[in-house]
Amino acid sequence: MQEKKKIIKEKLEKERDMLLEELRDMGKLNPETGEWEATPEELDFPHSDQNDMADRFEDFESKSSMLKTLEPRLQNILKAIKGLNRESFGKCEVCKKDIEMARLEANPAARTCKQHLEK
Ligand SMILES: [Zn+2]
Repeated sequence: MQEKKKIIKEKLEKERDMLLEELRDMGKLNPETGEWEATPEELDFPHSDQNDMADRFEDFESKSSMLKTLEPRLQNILKAIKGLNRESFGKCEVCKKDIEMARLEANPAARTCKQHLEK
């Protein structure tokens, strides 16, 4: 189980880093709210016209919605990484046997084996 745990942990940490990179591309973490906020594109020149303003607004909106999809994924991964420390990690809650590796890789938060899939 230790070996399995290590493999999954590395996989999750890689995913976390990739997500963080994507998030940082589009926004920044507000330390006060703990939420990711889109960063508006820098103004190239001070007197931009209406079209520029609309473009920028659109860009900001699409970044915001991307952040909203990415953030829960990041939270899930962080939760899964924490879950690796559970004593019961990788053990089926029903039959107490080891959960299949493929299943754990797909869902590190799985609490049951394939046979006892939670409904
Ligand atoms: Zn089971």
